Amino acid sequence: MDIEKLEKLMKIIKNSKHLVFFGGAGVSTASNIPDFRGEHGLYNYTPEDIISHSFFKEHTKEFYEFYFDKMVYLDALPNDAHKYFAELEKEGKVSSVITQNIDNLHQLAGSKNVIEIHGTIMKNHCMKCNKYYDLKDILNKEIPPRCDCGGLIKPDVVLYEEGLNEDDINKALEEISTCDMLIIVGTSLVVYPAAGFVRYFRGKYLVLLNKSETSYDSNCDIVIHDDVCKVVNELKK
Ligand code: ZN
Repeated sequence: MDIEKLEKLMKIIKNSKHLVFFGGAGVSTASNIPDFRGEHGLYNYTPEDIISHSFFKEHTKEFYEFYFDKMVYLDALPNDAHKYFAELEKEGKVSSVITQNIDNLHQLAGSKNVIEIHGTIMKNHCMKCNKYYDLKDILNKEIPPRCDCGGLIKPDVVLYEEGLNEDDINKALEEISTCDMLIIVGTSLVVYPAAGFVRYFRGKYLVLLNKSETSYDSNCDIVIHDDVCKVVNELKK
């Protein structure tokens, strides 16, 4: 790892007062949660086809089979990156974590202000009467899970063909446009609307930690291509 870059990053994190993390799938891979986009689909369907609103409506049972198999990881634990972000929040440096992940691991690590722009596996609602169900409730039901009213229960996860929650977008943009440092972690910024979000940044330092190159690298003050947990553990030293 580039020691000079790392030292510079350490220094600016130390001096930063209002930091925001913006994370993607790469933050969860060290918790053994693979990016479902890299998974095999079902029959002739790709994972992207399956995780769509129309597939959910037309093939609800198959949707849930894929969802429970590839997207819900009950035993997953927060890794060093999740813990690091939570520690910095406790110290008053981090105002929020904006995540594209749906796995609840930031909350498990202790982060309080988490904006889940793609929703969460923890919450579910009946599509007919809007009754709330938690993850445990639907795991105990037959697939596809139905509400007492007979309506279909849908996870509060944003599927393809669906819009993001407006409140979450507004909160995320407010955070990004007012922070003094934005650290983009474990995302190549190709999934809409992540790249668009970053354009709202007006602060001092834009940092990108990602395993591979992204089209956004040249816009950043510091770019480190490495495993997120490895970088975090160097920063903690
Ligand atoms: Zn209902």
